[in-house]
Amino acid sequence: MPKVKLIEESGNEVTLQLDGIDRSYANAVRRFCISEVPSMAIDDVVILENSSVLYDEILAHRLGMVPIKTDLERYILPEKCDCGSPLGCHKCRVLLVLDASAQDKIKTVYSGDLVSEDRDIRPISETIPLIKLAPGQAVKLEAYARLGRGKEHAKWQPCSVASLTDGKTGDSFVLKVESAGSLPAREIVVKAVQILEEKLKEIQVSVGEK
Ligand SMILES: [Zn+2]
Repeated sequence: MPKVKLIEESGNEVTLQLDGIDRSYANAVRRFCISEVPSMAIDDVVILENSSVLYDEILAHRLGMVPIKTDLERYILPEKCDCGSPLGCHKCRVLLVLDASAQDKIKTVYSGDLVSEDRDIRPISETIPLIKLAPGQAVKLEAYARLGRGKEHAKWQPCSVASLTDGKTGDSFVLKVESAGSLPAREIVVKAVQILEEKLKEIQVSVGEK
């Protein structure tokens, strides 16, 4: 009988002991934590004004790497949304606006300056530096965050670490997951198991049809 025991949970980390589970299954859970569990990241940026020294592309890339708080209950993956719009709708994307300018001295623009239309979906930290503006320079943009998966791009990886080590017996493993901040570590593991179960069920159904 498979058993899961919580060994430690603190901050962004969770450590679980998995007993009576096949190594390949335990490793699939670990891999799904990294590549299949969706999280939010900025994906599209419409630059309205940029007189800073940074190229638009670099600024957009930097915005993409900012971890965004994620709510998997309220948002769905764009490919699963019925809106069919490339810009998305309120179920599959969140708009964040940045409007910053430097007056008489150099100004650093931080992740906290991004104003989200959904107060629950915003950068996990307000102090990530995005850009430095010299007096007279300004940046104005619209950034669209959406759910994606780590297998598409690293910016959607919900965890920074997911490791599997051998436990005390042959069918015992220790799974350690460290969240990048967008989702609680425990939720990443629960979701990974859920997605894995769904995929296994799909295989069962398609094999049964043959
Ligand atoms: Zn949609």
